[in-house]
Amino acid sequence: MALVVKKFGGSSVATTEKILAVAQRILSEKNSDDKIVVVVSAMGKTTDNLLTLASDIDSEPYKADYLRELDMLLTTGEQVSIALLAMAFKKLGHPAISLTGAQVGMKTNSVHTKGRILDIKPKRVHEELNRGNIVVVAGFQGADSLGDPVTLGRGGSDTSAVALAGALKADECEIFTDVDGVYSADPRIVKSARKMKEITYFEMLEMARLGAGVMQPRSVEMGQFFNIPIHVRSTFTKDSGTIIREDYTVEEKDFEIRGVAHDTKVAKISVLGVPNSPGIAHTLFQSLADANIDVDMIVQSIRNIDRDINDIVFTIALHDLPEAKKVIAVVSEKINAITVLFEEDMAKVSIVGAGMLGSPGVAARMFGALARADVNIDIISTSEISVSCLVKGSQVTEAVNSIHDEFFPDK
Ligand code: ADP
Ligand code: ASP
Ligand code: MG
Repeated sequence: MALVVKKFGGSSVATTEKILAVAQRILSEKNSDDKIVVVVSAMGKTTDNLLTLASDIDSEPYKADYLRELDMLLTTGEQVSIALLAMAFKKLGHPAISLTGAQVGMKTNSVHTKGRILDIKPKRVHEELNRGNIVVVAGFQGADSLGDPVTLGRGGSDTSAVALAGALKADECEIFTDVDGVYSADPRIVKSARKMKEITYFEMLEMARLGAGVMQPRSVEMGQFFNIPIHVRSTFTKDSGTIIREDYTVEEKDFEIRGVAHDTKVAKISVLGVPNSPGIAHTLFQSLADANIDVDMIVQSIRNIDRDINDIVFTIALHDLPEAKKVIAVVSEKINAITVLFEEDMAKVSIVGAGMLGSPGVAARMFGALARADVNIDIISTSEISVSCLVKGSQVTEAVNSIHDEFFPDK
């Protein structure tokens, strides 16, 4: 007997036919005594469509004042798909029950639209499994201490699934999606991208953080925390996919670079001409932190030694830009900035790999690949196992392909 958590993303349940096909597949692969929990996302582009409705009310739906209502709206998407999938199981002759995030005991903080799971008490899930039900759970959502719905950030159903697998001490967590595994780059933009058999939590977390949308970063953290192997695989084929786990088996160990990630949802903010004195950066970034805005790449440079002023340039997620503009309008006066520039057409391209530790020249090869593609580098940042470059958004495809060709030449 195994307890397995299986997550199906939006494209896997985009139509009622697909929902029936998912139920059919699960039943055909299930041993009679297996306990199955299925986590689902909203159907197809439902979440985007709900956001469009919100934008019809106000073109800036992510204003702080709306976030609770946005969560109330967005969580309806997953409620539709769980109900339909539970009905599909019943139609095919297997008992099933749909449960929301709150009903499975998914406790979150109250940071609406960017919630974090604080605790899971899946008593109800165990009870329903023991009654013989397949339990169908709404991904992407939990509830805070008031019982209000809170969503876990875009792509959050991955995190729901892995966290639930951890809390249930499941034997396996499978992420079914529209690609058959994790690739060396997004296969939608790099035709020669290679599928990996395995990748470590450490490297997958960095890939995800840097934009590889196949897994939400927090889901990988959860996998590592609970030490649950995550199997990323295709909804539409039976082939095995990629296992995300603590360490590699021997034959996959020798890569300098595991993959190239990119993120086009980046905005660049340049706060120009601030005094070169203690406390300026603190005031600026604290005001963004107070508004729950994550700051990513940061560069500070002395512009003019005679006048002793600095420029501070940094990046944030594009969807935080409207709120950031408001925060900066206030703080830039406080810190006497001469001017502030906002740029939306930016992208971050990154190489990731634990093998680059102690391999000199990896960054130079990346910069060479960008130069060959005639891509200018705006900002560079590094971590222990990654190098990232901010480039023009319109050049992201050339940038990623040129870097990928450099590190993964055709055999
Ligand atoms: P789901 O709706 O199933 O959660 P997502 O669209 O969130 O699916 O994630 C799957 C997509 O992630 C793929 O279609 C692919 O374009 C994208 N992706 C980005 N980087 C990678 C990568 N390195 N490997 C595989 N897929 C990737
Ligand atoms: N439906 C949510 C989204 O589109 C969550 C998910 O798909 O994981 O972001
Ligand atoms: Mg996803």
